[in-house]
Amino acid sequence: MGEEADVRADSREERLAKNEILFRSVNEAIEQQALQFGGIDDDYEFICECASSGCLEHVKLSLRQYEHIRSEGTRFFVLPGHQDVTVELVVESTARYDVVEKDGLAGIAADAADPRDATDPSDFETSG
Ligand SMILES: [Zn+2]
Repeated sequence: MGEEADVRADSREERLAKNEILFRSVNEAIEQQALQFGGIDDDYEFICECASSGCLEHVKLSLRQYEHIRSEGTRFFVLPGHQDVTVELVVESTARYDVVEKDGLAGIAADAADPRDATDPSDFETSG
């Protein structure tokens, strides 16, 4: 039977980042829906982007606040108290949410998976 290799300690940060990356993509879809209603200063319910895979708490953010956080590929928002201080740093704190920043391996993984990091030069290709 295959024993797990002894890499758990090293991959923990990356594994935790994966949860946050997953919820970030969910939130991107929520924002796309929200944009159809307009109102960049209106509040919408996003999903907490903390490292806990069991957390499905809602966090209210205006689209403006959401865009501000999303402008950095290594930043995520979590409910106050949901930050994991072993793998992330709180860079902003408000009554409704905290903004955390990833560094190290987790930051690299988060940045690499940033959906806003458009590197595809064929974006303007027309078809039809
Ligand atoms: Zn959470």
